[in-house]
Amino acid sequence: ATAVTLALSLTACGQSSEGGSEEDKGGTEGATIGIAMPTKSSERWIADGDNVVKELESKGYKTKLVFGEDDPDQQVSQIENMITQGVDALIVAAIDNKSLNNVMQQAKDADIPVVSYDRLILGTENVDYYASFDNEKVGQLQGTYIVEQLGLKDGSKKGPFNIELFAGSNDDNNTRYFFNGAMSVLQPYIDKKQLVVKSGQAELNQVTTLRWDGGTAQKRMDDILTSAYRSDRVDAVLSPYDGISIGILSALKSDGYGSKDKPLPVVTGQDAEVASVKSIISGQQSMTVFKDLRELAKVASNMVDALLNDKKPETNDTESYDNGAKVVPAYLLEPVAVDKDNYKKELVDSGYIKESDLN
Ligand code: BGC
Repeated sequence: ATAVTLALSLTACGQSSEGGSEEDKGGTEGATIGIAMPTKSSERWIADGDNVVKELESKGYKTKLVFGEDDPDQQVSQIENMITQGVDALIVAAIDNKSLNNVMQQAKDADIPVVSYDRLILGTENVDYYASFDNEKVGQLQGTYIVEQLGLKDGSKKGPFNIELFAGSNDDNNTRYFFNGAMSVLQPYIDKKQLVVKSGQAELNQVTTLRWDGGTAQKRMDDILTSAYRSDRVDAVLSPYDGISIGILSALKSDGYGSKDKPLPVVTGQDAEVASVKSIISGQQSMTVFKDLRELAKVASNMVDALLNDKKPETNDTESYDNGAKVVPAYLLEPVAVDKDNYKKELVDSGYIKESDLN
């Protein structure tokens, strides 16, 4: 019956299983790490899954990798399955940060340590460590790029310029860090009326984009252009993520932006996804924030490795990330702003993206 249950739960996970004994908990030798990623709909998470598997295998671990199709319930049952299968540790990039409390308790009860990957899991003590980037800095880089490009930062232009604001999914803890980081730069210019949000939608809860969906952002941009920009032009759009930026750019282009007398606004992004880097090279999207996922995979894998060997994982931040139940010790990597001037150095020369993929 155990074998049948195991086979069934593996099937339910629906993703690669590297197999191996499920019974050998305790030592590092042959231990299996469960990896739960949120979705395959964006390039970055597919790369995250691959990178983490590679790192862990190079340390001699077995892995189970699952993707949640952006459905919180599905992610919960995937993690439950991995717990039932007896994984020795979990690496989780949450879909909905608040929906994992029960399943984290189950992990705790089974003595399975959890590393929160990229997105912090909220409201539970049962998260051991957090591996991520400096998320507030991501937003600051986006905000700073906008005021630099508009000439507001060095005072060469005074404006007023019109800006519209987009944020990520409201169930992702990173969303408010990105938004607050960006607004820490933009708000002073809004207060001085050098930046004007013509739609009037400037609060986080007015500008989120459920599940980071590009189509949803495109629709919102369409609506804003129709209602607030009939006789005016938008000069900048704060976009938190490349998939959202592509949606925003589609709306802008349908409205005639991108011609000589109606240039595209400054549009930010994040993740250095291939489609957006191409868009940057062709002069459409203005910038993206590059987060080297290879490094993130190393950090998360090292954390798990330390935890399973009774060592203390390396952290560099033990203050910033309070999840409501505790401050989760974190290792935060540095994000980098990338545009047409430095994409070669940052992305191609570093081997992150192949030059041939950008043609
Ligand atoms: C990640 C971003 C990503 C976004 C959408 C966030 O939690 O930190 O890198 O763009 O999710 O997938």
